[in-house]
Amino acid sequence: MLRVEKISHTFKSGGELTPVLHDINFQVKQGEMVALLGSSGSGKSTMLNLMAGLMKPTEGHIYIADQDIVKMSENKLAVFRRKNIGFIFQAYELIASLTVRENVELPLVFQSVSASARKKQSLALLEAVGIPDKAEQFPSQLSGGQQQRVSIARSLITEPSIIFADEPTGNLDTKTEDEIINILVDLNKNMKTTFIIVTHEHEVAQHMQRIFTLRDGYMVTEKEDPRSEN
Ligand code: ADP
Ligand code: MG
Repeated sequence: MLRVEKISHTFKSGGELTPVLHDINFQVKQGEMVALLGSSGSGKSTMLNLMAGLMKPTEGHIYIADQDIVKMSENKLAVFRRKNIGFIFQAYELIASLTVRENVELPLVFQSVSASARKKQSLALLEAVGIPDKAEQFPSQLSGGQQQRVSIARSLITEPSIIFADEPTGNLDTKTEDEIINILVDLNKNMKTTFIIVTHEHEVAQHMQRIFTLRDGYMVTEKEDPRSEN
């Protein structure tokens, strides 16, 4: 599903070079749920943004469904991303002037899906993330955990093959964090969507099938199926 090959990345701003990732290699199979764990500044967000095609690496290749997204033109990549990739942000990134349902449906508006088909799909997903009653409210009327549920539903509406989440519980208290992680684990089981979850919390990573750990831009460990140890 996902193959990261010899990825290195250096930020260049002005004359300043900041090497951030060094020769990163790993693979994720279709339907797997993995954590990318590391402390602040270790390069997690950079790695995630590269895999989601939001940035180009200095070196290396990233294959999603056997296509090298590094080599793709911007136009082709934009189409590929809309079709195959979902993204969940730490700060939800909902549009304040749209209702919950309109936020969830937004990716389909760009695909010219009819209003009735959009509504049917968005309501089903809001049910799946446990907030069917919030469809006609606005983001500001919801708690942080509820807003993240909306953002999860939005990431799923295009039925992407892979979803990237950057610290999806970073703004939430421990109890809400558990609820959100449980939702993601259930969705992974039921929908077979591949998930890559960035986190700096061991506790969150323990719920994933595999854990890749980054330290100062190097991949230091790969831990197989922590859930089987419990
Ligand atoms: P994490 O998500 O693990 O906290 P990041 O990937 O955000 O780490 O950042 C890794 C390193 O790259 C940090 O030292 C950060 O300062 C640096 N960095 C991130 N983005 C940029 C940028 N646009 N320009 C220069 N340096 C950056
Ligand atoms: Mg980060």
